[in-house]
Amino acid sequence: MPSQPGPDQWTPEGLLVRIRFANLAGARVLLYARALSDGQASSEYGVHCLGCTDTWTMTDSRSSSTTYPLNFLEGRERANEHAGQCRALPGPLPGRPDDETATGMITTRIARRQRDHGFSLHVSDFTGDRVLLQRTDAWIHEQLAAIADRRPDLLAITTDTTSTGTTHVYHRVQPHPSTRTQATSAR
Ligand SMILES: [Zn+2]
Repeated sequence: MPSQPGPDQWTPEGLLVRIRFANLAGARVLLYARALSDGQASSEYGVHCLGCTDTWTMTDSRSSSTTYPLNFLEGRERANEHAGQCRALPGPLPGRPDDETATGMITTRIARRQRDHGFSLHVSDFTGDRVLLQRTDAWIHEQLAAIADRRPDLLAITTDTTSTGTTHVYHRVQPHPSTRTQATSAR
């Protein structure tokens, strides 16, 4: 068995780690992006602390009511700020979940985000899960197709082919069956 890489080499599958900070106890705080199919980094970033295991993917909701995915500079600032105040000891590197567990994580994330209105889903919506998920964008897209087959109440996929022959795939989270939820939560 190959020896496990240390926290200074470890890169979760499907990601690019751009900067590793050290917190006050030496635990690494990763600034990461998704690895796109051409090997470039995504424009959305995530921050994950291997000490306290907290993750950030969005701009600060305390200073603005509108939040959006962290870009490189915002992610770097967040990681640096957290590293300067977190005292959690370095923990073990997260193990790679098996396929069934990873698919379950994706399904749970979609179900938690379900609202009383439908909305489109993007692979970047899973940025905060990726350090634990350890899967590529392509793998996640395959699972989304399988989930849409299995759970049409949860996720719908539509495709649109342009006149130039380019096919776009759209993922849409289906509205929550809110009438039933309200009936049970009204007790
Ligand atoms: Zn931390």
